[in-house]
Amino acid sequence: MQNWPLTIAAILRHACGVNGDRVVTTATGQGGYRSTTYSELGEQAAQLAHGLRGLGVTGDQRVGTFMWNNAEHLAVYLAAPAMGAVLHTLNIRLSAEQIAFIANEAEDQVIVADGSLVPLLAPVLPLLTTVHTVIVTGGADTAALSGTDITVLGYGDVLAGQPTQFDWPEIDENAAAAMCYTSGTTGNPKGVVYSHRSTYLHSLNTCTANALDVSSSDVVLPIVPMFHANAWGLAYAALMAGADLVMPDRFLDGASLIELIESQRPTLAGAVPTIWNDVMNCLEKNPGHDISSLRLVACGGSAVPLSLMQIFEERHGVYIQQAWGMTETSPVATVAKPLPGVSEGRHWEMRATQGRPMCGVEIRIVDDAGHPLPADGEAVGELEVRGPWITGGYYLGRDAEKFDSGWLRTGDVGRIDADGFVTLTDRAKDVIKSGGEWISSVELENLLIGHPGVLEAAVVGVPDDRWQERPLAVVVLQDGVAHTPEELREFLADKVVRWWLPERWTFVEQVPRTSVGKYDKKTIRARHAEGSYEVVTL
Ligand code: ADP
Repeated sequence: MQNWPLTIAAILRHACGVNGDRVVTTATGQGGYRSTTYSELGEQAAQLAHGLRGLGVTGDQRVGTFMWNNAEHLAVYLAAPAMGAVLHTLNIRLSAEQIAFIANEAEDQVIVADGSLVPLLAPVLPLLTTVHTVIVTGGADTAALSGTDITVLGYGDVLAGQPTQFDWPEIDENAAAAMCYTSGTTGNPKGVVYSHRSTYLHSLNTCTANALDVSSSDVVLPIVPMFHANAWGLAYAALMAGADLVMPDRFLDGASLIELIESQRPTLAGAVPTIWNDVMNCLEKNPGHDISSLRLVACGGSAVPLSLMQIFEERHGVYIQQAWGMTETSPVATVAKPLPGVSEGRHWEMRATQGRPMCGVEIRIVDDAGHPLPADGEAVGELEVRGPWITGGYYLGRDAEKFDSGWLRTGDVGRIDADGFVTLTDRAKDVIKSGGEWISSVELENLLIGHPGVLEAAVVGVPDDRWQERPLAVVVLQDGVAHTPEELREFLADKVVRWWLPERWTFVEQVPRTSVGKYDKKTIRARHAEGSYEVVTL
């Protein structure tokens, strides 16, 4: 067979060639949208590549993005890797210091930024050590970016007059295409570098029927940010499949998303449970909206509560499919597609798991000494994964011990059943160790969120004199609904073993979240330790 490299340029040529008439639509706010075709996007990418070359970007230098999900971000997704440079998506929700640390460590040369993000980028600029140019989209006022020796250019000016064709170089499929830092939920952010090949194979697998079944009949809505593990591969998958894309830009609140779904009628969307929770609550308060154009919603990043899946399906006709992955795994590694011909109970049991591995990903659980444990649905251990789109190490060799066995130690704890479905019970750092036994914070959270009066619930382990650790439930109640800790504990009583039932409860306005919308358990534990929570102990 021909040795034909699997590269982003190949995706670009395909998308902008045979799929050239497909459309990328970007939200502009208040029900407004702008559109561009894939062939126009390809021309934009070529112009940008010429512009970047003109600014001195060569070899595998890093081109940072500081952007929402929109057509320009997609143009950088294509241009930077296809020209041989490395796309580096920066997480706009981190602090200025963290963003600068990440951009400096990756030695970004140029950053392409959204005009709407100028205020967030301004405090980062004085901290940057390697970036020489910032390119700002949308003709925004860039006065706030002055005062350093970094050159600030307009996106339109960089593209103006550039040829709309680029002679994309031959690139080794194993060369770096993109990099992304972990969001740092449990530790410092670490860089993960994706190759052209890993990205190609991951996107291709995302398109398969056992994963998201992406095809040219789809209109794909990536709500998960393009700076969060490449929007779970949805952007490249849509380009490969010739699906239309709808980009929400910065309009991510429940009402805006519902408006976008009703007017643009996407068939496939991806976002973390927090987003769908917002959408669900918004729909409950404002009935009469129709989001049933969605044939499939991909959901993951944290455990997807069964109640959320059931409400979406029963009340809104929308099927939520859970998937599991990490920045380190490109990210999609397992997908919870239920097997046919099973009882309704087993069907929901399968849907509530983190899923089965896609072909190309191998998984196992191991004990503390690293010995494999049986996939019998009983044994609990740390999940390990390997495969062509699983990283073999972090950038600059950080945390090398996580890769010692040739597998990636995920830091996730759970069990695997005989059909290969993984159920995560916790992240290793969040497991609650009570009297030598483990309590699953995730399971308690999923059950609590099923209570009609509960809007959000996070459970963390807090020190306890007798049991070392006991669960503290941090609960946000639905507007105007009063519930007591006794009632909530009673609600859990027939669902888990007695010693799992939390005796410590606190009601808050909001659960602290990380930059990608996960419960920030480090902060919750710190707030509890400093006495910021009013805790009721039963
Ligand atoms: P961070 O590691 O900083 O949170 P990632 O976005 O890479 O950043 O998160 C990966 C982690 O998210 C996984 O290790 C796992 O703990 C969690 N996760 C992802 N998907 C799921 C899921 N479906 N259910 C439970 N946890 C999940």
